[in-house]
Amino acid sequence: MNVLVIGSGGREHALCWALARSPRLERLFCAPGNGGIAGVAECRDLDPLDFAAVESFCREADIGLVVVGPEAPLVAGIVDHLRGAGIRAFGPERAAAALEGSKGFMKDLCARHGIPTAAYGRFREAAAAKAFAAELGAPVVVKTDGLAAGKGVTVAATLAEADAAIDAMLGGRFGAAGEEVVVEEFMVGEEASFFAIVGDDAVLPLATAQDHKAVGDGDTGPNTGGMGAYSPAPVMTDALVEQVMAEIVRPTVAGMQAEGMPYRGILYAGLMITATGPRLVEYNIRFGDPECQVLLPRLKSDLLDVLIAACDGRLGQVALDWSDEAALVVVLAAEGYPGDYRKGTRIGRLDRAAALDGVLVFHAGTARRGDALVATGGRVLGITATGPTVGAARDRAYAAVDRVDWPEGFCRRDIGWRAIERETA
Ligand code: ATP
Repeated sequence: MNVLVIGSGGREHALCWALARSPRLERLFCAPGNGGIAGVAECRDLDPLDFAAVESFCREADIGLVVVGPEAPLVAGIVDHLRGAGIRAFGPERAAAALEGSKGFMKDLCARHGIPTAAYGRFREAAAAKAFAAELGAPVVVKTDGLAAGKGVTVAATLAEADAAIDAMLGGRFGAAGEEVVVEEFMVGEEASFFAIVGDDAVLPLATAQDHKAVGDGDTGPNTGGMGAYSPAPVMTDALVEQVMAEIVRPTVAGMQAEGMPYRGILYAGLMITATGPRLVEYNIRFGDPECQVLLPRLKSDLLDVLIAACDGRLGQVALDWSDEAALVVVLAAEGYPGDYRKGTRIGRLDRAAALDGVLVFHAGTARRGDALVATGGRVLGITATGPTVGAARDRAYAAVDRVDWPEGFCRRDIGWRAIERETA
C-alpha cells in the first residue's frame, strides 16, 4: 500500500519511520516533510490546507491511507474532504476535531457527560469574564477558545494578570481564536499526557508518556511545544490508566458518538493528577510532539495495520504490543527559541549521533541545502534513545546529543528527571 503522511515535524518523522517498517508498505510520501523525513519518505511540496491538491495527489499516487499529523488540517476538515472523496484517512472529522479546536466546545461536552475537569465559564464580554475570574479567585486560568499554537493560555497568578489576559484576548490579539475566552479554575497536581487510539468499534489506550514543556532546566522559563519526553511515565500507574479510561476517555468517546460526532483517530488527553483523582486539562486530536517520538519506537505492532484497522472499524481485533524498554527524547532547539531564533545554521555530524546503539534521530525543523543540513525551525531535532530504564535511555540520548555539531543549538539537560527520581527512589 502507498501511504501519505501530512506534516513536517518530529512527530511526522517518527510516524514515517514507524510506517516504513511495515512489510505492507510500498511507497511512503510525506507532505511537505523535512530534511530528515526525506531519508525515509518521498517528500512532496503540498499545502495540507489545500484539500483539492491533496486529493488529486492521492489519486495520482494511488494512496491507500492518509495519516494526518498536525491539528490545523484536521480542524479545517481534511479528513471529511478525503473520506468524502473515497480516500481512507486517519484522524477525526471536523466536528469531532472541535475537541481541540474549541476549548468551549470541549468544556461543554465534559459538563454534559460528567467528565472531571476544571470549573469554567465561556465569555465574549470582558466585564463578565473578569467578574467570573474574581469569583473563582487567583490563581486562575484564561484561554482563547480557538487554536493559538500553544500561546493562547495564561495561568494568571493575580486577578490583574487575568484581567490583562482577558483584555488582550478579547481585544483581538489572537484574531478569531480569541473572540471568545474560557476562564477556568486553577487545578493543582502533576501533569500527565494520556494517549488513546479510537476507532468506531473500540478505544485502546496507548503506552504512557510525559513531556517537558518549559524551556529551561528544572521546568523553568516560558512554555514551548515540548523540549523532551519519555515513555513509560511512572506517574501513570495501571490503576490510573484504568481510571482515566473509565472516567474521562470512554465517556468522551461515547458522548461524541451519542451526539452524532463519532471520534476516530488519536485522542490525547492532557491531565492533571490532583489529590481527588485525574482531571482533564485539555484534549488534543493528534499525537503529541515530542511524545510521538518516544511512543512509536516502543510500539512493536505494525503501525500501518493498526491505523488501517482504526479507519475500517476493526480496531477491536488489534492487540497493541509494546516493548518493555523505555524511550526518551531530547529536543535540540535553535538558540533563542521559543522567542526569536536564527534560521539557516548548519548542523554537522548527525550520522555519528545516529550510529550509537539504540539511538534514533528525528528531524523537526531541518532542510537539505546541497550537501549541508540546516536548521529551519525553533525545534530542530529530536534525539531519541531506548534503554532498559528511563535513566539508561537518558544516558544514551545525551551521549548522542553530545556528538552533534551544532553550536547554535541548545537543549535541556534534565529530561526525564521526575521519572528517574522515581526509578532511583
Ligand atoms: P498545548 O500547547 O499543551 O496544546 P494549549 O494551548 O492547548 O496548550 P492547555 O493545555 O489547555 O493549552 O494549557 C497549557 C498549560 O497551561 C497546561 O499544560 C497547564 O500547565 C496549564 N493549565 C491549563 N489549564 C489549567 C488549569 N485549569 N489549571 C492549572 N493549569 C492549567
